[in-house]
Amino acid sequence: MKKIVLATANTHKVTEFQRILGELLPDLELIASSDFSNVPVIEETGATFAENALLKAKVINKFTKLPAIADDSGLVVASLNGAPGIFSARYAGIKASDQENVAKLISDIENIDDSLLEASFECAIALVDREQNLELVVQAQMPGRVIKQVRGANGFGYDPMFIPQGFSKTAAELSDQDKDKISHRGIALRKMSGILKQLQG
Ligand code: IMP
Repeated sequence: MKKIVLATANTHKVTEFQRILGELLPDLELIASSDFSNVPVIEETGATFAENALLKAKVINKFTKLPAIADDSGLVVASLNGAPGIFSARYAGIKASDQENVAKLISDIENIDDSLLEASFECAIALVDREQNLELVVQAQMPGRVIKQVRGANGFGYDPMFIPQGFSKTAAELSDQDKDKISHRGIALRKMSGILKQLQG
């Protein structure tokens, strides 16, 4: 498996996937699905990160006829019953910006005691290749807590208001390399790279 399509139009994800997988699997050519024309619009109708990841990988595998990987990820805040969860990207509305989503989350946790703000980033990555009868999902988490302000300029999404467990900096104050070592996507991608390596033989 030398050529894989990544089912996403999110440039942050393409960069992270290329950075992490590129190092582990230098022979792999990772193509973003947004580089194809007339890519079907995928409705994320699953109830879990895993279901959504699988759904996206299946559609892109069927459309491109190439092995496809897709991820679905988000932030789960325990005292908000798991919100924003699978709705992380559209928490403040369908086309909400990262800043709008962060502002909504800060307002939602305003009255919750700091000691009750445990949260975790979750990531599911699916690999689908119908030709090889292959359909699998790997998952990982990055535990930590959310805070009521933003700090740091790296990363994206909720990074500026998330402090990983064992750290005092927010994820947006960490370098890309330090975040990759502990992040939900970094861990899930390392699991996936092990599987891809085996499949490459
Ligand atoms: P997806 O594209 O449907 O998987 O949505 C993922 C959303 O979850 C992003 O738009 C971010 O809001 C949030 N998210 C996922 N991973 C991260 C991360 O590593 N840092 C910050 N926010 C993240």
